[in-house]
Amino acid sequence: MNVPISADLPGNQTVVVAVDGTSGSGKSSTCRAVADRLGLRYLDTGAQYRAITWWMLTQDVDVHDAAAVAAAADTAVLESGTDPLNPTITVDGTDVSVQIRSDEVNAAVSPVSTVPEVRSRLVALQREIIGSGGIVVEGRDIGSVVWPDAEVKIYLTADPNARAVRRALEAGGADVAATQESLLARDKIDSGRAVAPLTMADGALRVDSTHLTLDEVVDMVVGLVTERV
Ligand code: C5P
Repeated sequence: MNVPISADLPGNQTVVVAVDGTSGSGKSSTCRAVADRLGLRYLDTGAQYRAITWWMLTQDVDVHDAAAVAAAADTAVLESGTDPLNPTITVDGTDVSVQIRSDEVNAAVSPVSTVPEVRSRLVALQREIIGSGGIVVEGRDIGSVVWPDAEVKIYLTADPNARAVRRALEAGGADVAATQESLLARDKIDSGRAVAPLTMADGALRVDSTHLTLDEVVDMVVGLVTERV
């Protein structure tokens, strides 16, 4: 399926596309491609949670001590670049795009993300970046909490084995079983937390990408955006 699309649809400049879903469901590749095709900005909120987690690990904050995490939540300066072809993330001016994908960060990011002070700080930053729109935003709580008025809301998922195989390939051939275990551990914490748990937002369309190619998912989302704008 190939939906012909112009990159300068009227109204594009204000649309907000919210893509939430489980770890490794293809959110990043999908969102970047959709933003690129439609001439929109792109925001990876997971990278922000990872960046603050990376910073806490480097500062020896005990990531399992919610009070210590809360006390440190406001200190680091985060900046996200929103070009879908070159998204960037810096902490206190240092590019951390590689460091935030480490096993240490994978293991610590969900506990850090349960802490309300971390969430309120990052949600404020995300709303500031979204501003007047023209952006595709990926995360866990975008359609439910960060931007409930998003014109298009997608809940993207896939079966755990498919997600682990994709992530392991991206990581240059990491062990699939260990990757699946790490994804499921994060999903469990993300779905079970008290504040802004991973959930399907009101009005979201559930897309299961297990048997779809990236292009098929992108075409579907682009089609939805053009319908709504
Ligand atoms: O999307 P990604 O897998 O990089 O997200 C890493 C972690 O960041 C998630 O497992 C979740 O704990 C947290 N996160 C969140 N809310 C978001 C985005 C990510 O809690 N909006």
